[in-house]
This record gives sequence, structure tokens and C-alpha cells, in this order.
Amino acid sequence: MNYLFNPIFISKVLKSYFFDIDRLWKINEEQLRKYRDKRLRQIVRYAYTVPVYHDKYKEMGIHPADIHGLDDITKLPEISKEEIKHYYPNGIIPSGVDKKNLIEVSTSGTTGKSFPIFVDMYDIVRGLFGYIRTIKEYGINWRKTKMTIIGDFAPHTAESGYITQGLSPHLKLDRLMNNIQWLDTNDDPKKIIREINDFKPEFIGGYVGMLGHLALLQEKGLGKNIRPRYIATTGAVLDKSLKHFIEEQFETQIFEVYGATETGPIAFECKQGHYHIMSDFLHLEFLKDGKPVSSSEPGLVLVTKLFGNGTPIIRYNAINDIAAPLYEPCSCEISSGLIKKIYGRNVLSLILPGGRVLLASGITEIFGRILYELKTNKLKDTRIIQHDMTHIEVQVVIDEQLRDQEPSVDKLFSLLKQGFQEKAGRGVEISLKEIKKVGKNEARIVSKVDRSKVEITQYI
Ligand SMILES: [Zn+2]
Repeated sequence: MNYLFNPIFISKVLKSYFFDIDRLWKINEEQLRKYRDKRLRQIVRYAYTVPVYHDKYKEMGIHPADIHGLDDITKLPEISKEEIKHYYPNGIIPSGVDKKNLIEVSTSGTTGKSFPIFVDMYDIVRGLFGYIRTIKEYGINWRKTKMTIIGDFAPHTAESGYITQGLSPHLKLDRLMNNIQWLDTNDDPKKIIREINDFKPEFIGGYVGMLGHLALLQEKGLGKNIRPRYIATTGAVLDKSLKHFIEEQFETQIFEVYGATETGPIAFECKQGHYHIMSDFLHLEFLKDGKPVSSSEPGLVLVTKLFGNGTPIIRYNAINDIAAPLYEPCSCEISSGLIKKIYGRNVLSLILPGGRVLLASGITEIFGRILYELKTNKLKDTRIIQHDMTHIEVQVVIDEQLRDQEPSVDKLFSLLKQGFQEKAGRGVEISLKEIKKVGKNEARIVSKVDRSKVEITQYI
């Protein structure tokens, strides 16, 4: 089906364009609450037609009529990745829906496992609007501003699903928006920086890792023409020093966008530096031991998508992020829930003695120092194996072309060791090992510690 010639789709998109993008600026808290309650009722009714939810709700004796609004959401059970996987493919969309009109997207394999769900074109457009809304906060016009988007366009990733399979063939994106340069984060950073340098964008959006590489290449004299007004980062937690390094190199300002494959964009940083949840698109809960945390306290994020015609996402517990909510108002004009801090993926964490948990954000900090302190990207890849609570093995792949350049591999090893030792504490043995490569489907962080037996006392 060509969506451009489908009048229903076009009118939906236009309606969405006018209302969705600006909604959080235009409505007050009370209107937002009513809107969200209504959306939840609709999405629960929809989920009731989808076998994976229908069976679960029925078994627990819950009917959509029991759900009047978000205050009732805890009456609904949580849903796990395994349950959705178990019902895949036919049980995760309403029976009778033609899969031809849906697009399958998979989460990428940072944890070594991929997980497919279905989205529809409207989901995709709405995800894009979430992004447009974000950049609009910074005065960037998506139809006029020259932008470079460095996405993950490897086959089967979410972005391939969203952009290349979803939007591009139907909406002829590149012709419609010739102010946007699309680049693939799997390409060589040197190639990427040359292309950005020729394009001279006012805005760059990309992953933390790639942007760190680009900043380093800039420091080494490449990409002299790259002076964007803003850079938006996504995909990983950005630590303060790395942020500062990238900002300095490109003489720019960074803001963060937080999202997940299963849901699209989740939150964005406003000009005051607060993370605003896209509360009209989704609802977040923050739980510790199954109970809501208080303001500023870290908890596991549970997400409910308030729209969509593909696979519903209701009280989904497997984006596995740890984040702390903020129950105070922001001084800006956006009505929405707030996040104080995003700590990163829980599964990508290490359990330390005394119930301390070293999260992805802490680990990123250690690797970030290689970039901005040693100013090298000879660290090509890494893998962390936690054998037990007192032994962490850090495996590294060294870029052969850069091996003999300064700083030495020894220096790099000692900074890594020091970094891990500082975070983990004296009682933990840190060993470093050079390996040839990390396989594409291998998990980057493996912890053999049994989490179920550990009482968490602190996130680092
Ligand atoms: Zn704000």
C-alpha cells in the first residue's frame, strides 16, 4: 500500500501533526491527565483483542471496563519480554489483522538477544513527531534546518524498520526532506566525519559512542567545518566529562533524548536540563521491589504506550532501565512528568559486594575517560565478564592500525583498571585481557552473579 495516497492515513497524519507535536506546550496538567486517562482506556480495550494480553487479563479476571484511568493501572499485570515472545507472531497483534500492513522491528542486541514486535505506519510517524517535538524545543525546524541524523541502519534494527522499511519507501523521505542527511552509525567514523563536514549541518543527532569518536577525530584535525548549534545524543547514558569533551570540540551544546525500540521516544531534555516524559504518548512507572519509588529515588522503569495499532505495550517491564523520577515542577512551559536521572540498562550492570550495583552509566564513564583523557580510539571493542562478586574481567579489542601509536596499550590498560577499581572498590579484583574480537551476537556485559539473591543497597 502506498500510504501517501491513502486519504485516511494522510488525514490522521495531518491531525497528528497539528495536535501531537505541540500538545505538551498547549495543555495544562488537568487536561493532560484527562487525555491520558482516555488514551489508557482505549489502549486497554485494544489490548483485550490481542491474545497475549487477552489471555492474561482473562485469567486474572480483569476486564477493560475495570480500568477508568491511570489510577487503575496497577490493577493490570506486568508483561514480560518472554510472554510477548511466547505469543509471537500471531498472538501479539489482534487476530484478523493483516501483518502486511505492519512493520516488524527488533531491539538491538546489546544484551545478545533480539526481540521482535509489530508497529504500524502511524506508530512510526508518531515516533518521528516525538523527535520533531524534541528538536523544536531548541528552535530547530525539521523542514528547514540542515540536519544530520546518524542512525543504526544495520538490517533488522529498529531504525531500519522505522526509517528504511517504514517511512522512506512510502513517504519518499529523502525527496520530501532534502535538508536531512541520513548516515549509518555502523560506518567508519572517518567516512562519517567527511560527509558531515561537507554537509555542514546546524544540528546532529546520533549515538553517544559515535559522537565521542567524531569529537576525537575533530580534535585530531578532521571536520573543521562542523559547527552545529546543537547535538542530540541517544542510545546510552552520557556522562558529564564526555559531554563536555564533545561540546568543546564542536563548540556546541548537547541535549539528550531518551527512548527504547519498543516504545519510540520516551523523554527529552528541556532547556532547563530536566528530562520531560512524553506523557501524552506513554506512561512510566518507577518501581523498587514492586513498589513506586519516591522522588529522586532510582527504580526500574515500567512503560505503557498510550497509542498504537501494532503490539500493545502495557506495564512492560523489560526495557530494563533504571531511572529516578522527579516529582517537582519544572519552570518551563511543558506539561509532563519528569525524570531526574537515567542510570541505564539494568541488565548491563555488575553486582558488587554489599549489594552495590555498578550500572551502565558508571561503566560508560570509565570507558569515556579513554576518549577524553587519553584522546585515543584505539579501543575498538570491549566485553566485561563478571565471574563472581569479587572478580571482574575486562576484555578489550585493540585497533591494529592504531596499536603502535601513543598512548601505549599499557597506559590504556592501566587507566581502565584504575577506573574499574575506583568504582568497584578495593575488595574486587579487576583483570584485563586482550581479545581478537567480540562476536556480533555476544553480550557485551555478562554477570554470573545470581541477582535474585542480592539485596540492592546502592546504584553507582
Ligand atoms: Zn522543563
